[in-house]
Amino acid sequence: SEARALAAKDLPAQSTDGFRIRLVGNIEFPEELPALLSHGAEGIGLYRTEFMFLDRKEAPSEEEQYRAYRQVLEAMEGRPVTIRTLDLGGDKVPGKGKHEKEPNPAMGLRAIRYCLANRELFRVQLRALLRASVHGNMRVMFPLISGMSELREARSELEACRTELGRAGVPLGKRIPIGIMVETPSAALIADRLAQEADFFSVGTNDLIQYSMAIDRQNRDVAYLYKPLHLSVLRSLRNIVAAARDARIPVAMCGEMAGDSVYALVLLALGFDELSMTAGQIPSVKSVLRQSSRAEAQKLLDEAMALTTAEEIERFIRIEMDKRF
Ligand code: PEP
Ligand code: MG
Repeated sequence: SEARALAAKDLPAQSTDGFRIRLVGNIEFPEELPALLSHGAEGIGLYRTEFMFLDRKEAPSEEEQYRAYRQVLEAMEGRPVTIRTLDLGGDKVPGKGKHEKEPNPAMGLRAIRYCLANRELFRVQLRALLRASVHGNMRVMFPLISGMSELREARSELEACRTELGRAGVPLGKRIPIGIMVETPSAALIADRLAQEADFFSVGTNDLIQYSMAIDRQNRDVAYLYKPLHLSVLRSLRNIVAAARDARIPVAMCGEMAGDSVYALVLLALGFDELSMTAGQIPSVKSVLRQSSRAEAQKLLDEAMALTTAEEIERFIRIEMDKRF
């Protein structure tokens, strides 16, 4: 029950055979912090900073951004806070109406591409992040990385900002872990290489599924093809986790798939270290994980991946989950 699940808020999400997963929260605004803490979030896995930029005329200043990041870091009291740099462009356009519509926004100038094309906007955010980093346990994550060049470019921009602030005498603290969202099929396929230069991965299944199946996630006519348990998605996830393991970097998932308890055994089997979701989803995912063994989940996943269609796999997983919970 919900009451029992809430009572378990301070218990770890650990399987019966000892595999520990960190359950953390997704936020868009600092106002969501109290709900996260009351549901037992062990940190923040995805802070979608672009929301501060929407529905207003002027972009927030470095100072305004710094204050928001600092507020989130301080509220989390040393727990890990993963802040994603701006995922603007596509369907999320800053300001009101001045942006020219792209014919194919999901494949257009968005996320890290947008930031690399709008350097000053990117630098303002990076400076705000660097300044805020002394106030908590911060990691920075770049969205929609499609290849190594973008990761290198984004990283070197961050380094340049660090050098500049350092010269100006701004206190910066220690090195910040730099990770990437793995949410394009290209990144999933070269995850082994990306893992050599990223400090962590976080899988964005909302986009990974969209781009894997070539379906616009906003388009209702093709929504029936949006299947987290499509074999291509499961194979991508397996490849991403294996690459992270080999390179000994942590691997998280922060797309919506992470917060739906029907997928919790699949994700336990795959070996994710961290799952990030909305506050209200934490108790039910934790409850499934605490009642299950990873060995059993792995058997279930092997059986599922021997099937072929997304419908078969989904039916199989739903039936098996219904039997257990
Ligand atoms: C994702 O793509 O799964 C994700 C978490 O990012 P967003 O939904 O903000 O694109
Ligand atoms: Mg995404």
